[in-house]
Amino acid sequence: MSTVPDGKKLVRSPSGLRMVPENGAFNSPFSLDEPQWVPDKECPSCMQCDKKYDFLTRKHHCRRCGRCFCDKCCSKKVALPRMCFVDPVRQCGECSLVSQKEMEFYDKQLKVLMGGGSFIVTLGTSKTSETMMCRLSNNHRYLFFDGESHFEVELSRISSMQVLTEESTPEENDIHTYTSLLDSQYISEGGNSRASGMLLHYKPTGSQDPQQLRMEAADDKKTASSWLAAMHKAAKLLYEARDR
Ligand SMILES: [Zn+2]
Ligand SMILES: [Zn+2]
Repeated sequence: MSTVPDGKKLVRSPSGLRMVPENGAFNSPFSLDEPQWVPDKECPSCMQCDKKYDFLTRKHHCRRCGRCFCDKCCSKKVALPRMCFVDPVRQCGECSLVSQKEMEFYDKQLKVLMGGGSFIVTLGTSKTSETMMCRLSNNHRYLFFDGESHFEVELSRISSMQVLTEESTPEENDIHTYTSLLDSQYISEGGNSRASGMLLHYKPTGSQDPQQLRMEAADDKKTASSWLAAMHKAAKLLYEARDR
């Protein structure tokens, strides 16, 4: 085990080499735990094509789901940043598709989120709002808001997230909630209706009282809209990770 700068360490698991935070409490909220491997004795044949294992047909475990497959059904090595693997790891067909889709989030949306956007921010039911730069922290754990003042929202303390479009406001009946947007192209970049704002409910650190925060795209609407679309993708991964 060796220590490297910025509080991360290399650990070796049966699945491969992983680069994880020194302190588990600082795991990225997007990260997933490694699965338990299905024990050898519980899988006499490939869980995909049913081929029996023998001296020539060896078994391999998918690093993402932990199920057991023959070489043909588990041959792809795909990057799996959500489990912090340093190199691409062996995955079954189903899992490699999911992981490949997630790479787009890591390659594009995560960078957009860390780059930030400019928003008019209103806290609670306050009558006053402030133009602030909002960005995701480098460790992915916080949304930082910077303007005249500074505050942060911990992603794990967000209980609900609504992306608002130009045609919708929270006062209207058809609120486009996070769940109704799952897998929809509605909010995506270049879609018919551009994301124009977001409504968050969260518990500030050290408090159990839910707080509401409203963000509306400020001057650079295009950047803000991309940021919101990226946040929408992020929400999907976050809620998936939380529901496990
Ligand atoms: Zn197979
Ligand atoms: Zn799998």
